Amino acid sequence: MDDKLKRDIILEHYQNPINRGFIDNNNYIKVNSRNESCVDNITVALLLDKDVIIDARFEGEACAICTSATSVMIKTLIGKTVEEAREIIKNFNNMINEEEYDSSILEELNVYDTVYRQPNRKNCALLPFKAVKDILGERE
Ligand code: ZN
Repeated sequence: MDDKLKRDIILEHYQNPINRGFIDNNNYIKVNSRNESCVDNITVALLLDKDVIIDARFEGEACAICTSATSVMIKTLIGKTVEEAREIIKNFNNMINEEEYDSSILEELNVYDTVYRQPNRKNCALLPFKAVKDILGERE
């Protein structure tokens, strides 16, 4: 994937994020996450059916990288099991931090594979994953 295509995908998810806005349903588990170093302040909500993420949504204000990463993450996680989601989060973290990772499970999240070139944007990309990690952690 070339850099232009990556930028286009990121821009598209920033301008038209998937599942922005909550719906009236108390079964969603919500966690707020924010970055001190950026404007990012988002709340992620997951709806689980046993061990499967059947829906994911978010609300809040964030920069382009954080908003788009939240949207792409939501697209990727819906339909995944908790176990699969944990693997995706682990590998995404590794990718952002320039450690070894498995790109084959990251789907469209691979568009963030050059974020490490902008160290001040790493936490922006990681923020929604931190929220999901907190939500899934509560289930153990
Ligand atoms: Zn940010």
